Amino acid sequence: MNVKHLNNNSKESSCKVTNDICLPDSDLPRVVIIGGGFAGLALIEKLKHKEVQVVLFDKNNFHQFQPLFYQVATSALEPDSIVFPFRKQFKGYKNVVFRLAEVEKIQPSSNTLITSKGKIHYDYLVLATGTTTNFFGMDSVAQNSLGMKDIRDSLNIRHMMLQNLEQAAITCDDDVRDALTNFVIVGGGPAGVEMAGALAEFCKYILPKDYPEYPSSIMNIYLIEANDELLSTMSDKASSKTLKYLKDLNVKILFNESVSDYDGSQVSTKSGKKILAMNLIWTAGVKGQFPKGLDEKHVVKGNRIKTDSYLKVEGSENIFAIGDIAAMITENTPKGHPQVAQTAIQQGKYLGESLLKLMKNKHIEPFHYKDKGSLATVGKRKAVADLGKFKFAGYFAWLLWSIVHLLSISGFRNRLMVGFNWAVSYFTYEKSNRLIIRNFKPQTVSQQTKLKIDNKEEVENITR
Ligand SMILES: Cc1cc2nc3c(=O)[nH]c(=O)nc-3n(C[C@H](O)[C@H](O)[C@H](O)COP(=O)(O)OP(=O)(O)OC[C@H]3O[C@@H](n4cnc5c(N)ncnc54)[C@H](O)[C@@H]3O)c2cc1C
Repeated sequence: MNVKHLNNNSKESSCKVTNDICLPDSDLPRVVIIGGGFAGLALIEKLKHKEVQVVLFDKNNFHQFQPLFYQVATSALEPDSIVFPFRKQFKGYKNVVFRLAEVEKIQPSSNTLITSKGKIHYDYLVLATGTTTNFFGMDSVAQNSLGMKDIRDSLNIRHMMLQNLEQAAITCDDDVRDALTNFVIVGGGPAGVEMAGALAEFCKYILPKDYPEYPSSIMNIYLIEANDELLSTMSDKASSKTLKYLKDLNVKILFNESVSDYDGSQVSTKSGKKILAMNLIWTAGVKGQFPKGLDEKHVVKGNRIKTDSYLKVEGSENIFAIGDIAAMITENTPKGHPQVAQTAIQQGKYLGESLLKLMKNKHIEPFHYKDKGSLATVGKRKAVADLGKFKFAGYFAWLLWSIVHLLSISGFRNRLMVGFNWAVSYFTYEKSNRLIIRNFKPQTVSQQTKLKIDNKEEVENITR
């Protein structure tokens, strides 16, 4: 049976209804990209309007701007300001096709992919699948805490937080109220630090307005870090300034501590500390995610895929990996490149250019990463910046952070919305409306509702 559909040039063509994914007819080489994150999008920008057919698969129909997830979680921004639909992004890109599907398996011997919606053949395959939260095998933590690797995670954090604050107003039990209003963030990297700063500002500026029945001191924010410093990948100056900024915001920081267990209401650390908290946000690690089918010998630490200096998966001629999932292991980069947006963007751009050269049998240079520096913000008007030799902190670092992030967001409307929200918040400290529009149910509701604080003396009250 034949069905009619429109191809990219709006001319009608026909294709057979099979298990295959329906695509526009094309004689051009087909580059299939799995994942429309920073890396996948940068690659598509280089391949658009070129003599290739580009097919993007993503399990979402939108690109996510992960660096601002914490602002959605703390109600500073609405989710549609930082996610952007692929179909809008590719408007007018005649050689680019988007298909909403999860890729489940790669079959390198036949150059095919098995997806949740059917099969597809590729000439070149690019894995740009990024990472997912790594709970390091701790099932109790995975089940009861929330990661921050997806816009849905951010919304879950937001709803968990607002519901728990409302529940705290209802309960008369002091210990239960403490648990409901205590927040533990695990991981002192950029995501953890930014989340802690934003929560602390919520506590300082929003809590007294929205919940006048509570003193600000009711909300305790703990940041647990396994090393002896925050932002360990940045300079000492950035680490020490960040520590000061967070302390000024009353965040309680526990160094050289790691979480060993979490039952939904009590956090246990390896050294034996216990913290009552029904809000645990996990930013302590990520691991690569990619479909089945690749030889295990190409998978290295962090579940990343080992590539050569041209981002080609070893042992293959036409499979490449870029962004967080790729570990380009060389003498200069024995652990691969840092898993940050800049790496993903640079690798996407590089691979776009080199694929076009490869198809024309032209010479290709190996990939070289240019470190453009690092930025992290700690609450409003304070940030730290490491830009080569220049290391600075404070208001100008925050201004730079704001400009860089604003310009990096996809879509004019999104930039406008974020800019507007930030401007309002700058002058008023007000954030967007804090609505509970869906009922977030923690997986272990039963444990939470029957919170027994019969071991109160064991629960350490860590002082500020
Ligand atoms: C909370 C947080 C804050 C961050 N802050 C910063 C920051 O301030 N600065 C910075 O430089 N970096 C930051 N990062 C890191 C940065 O976001 C990542 O390095 C970057 O997103 C990696 O890009 P990527 O394209 O490799 O992967 P991603 O952006 O993760 O994209 C992967 C895409 O693949 C899709 N996908 C995955 N598997 C499949 C499948 N099987 N089938 C179909 N689709 C699939 C996903 O849906 C996703 O769209 C932050 C990350 C987080 C989580």
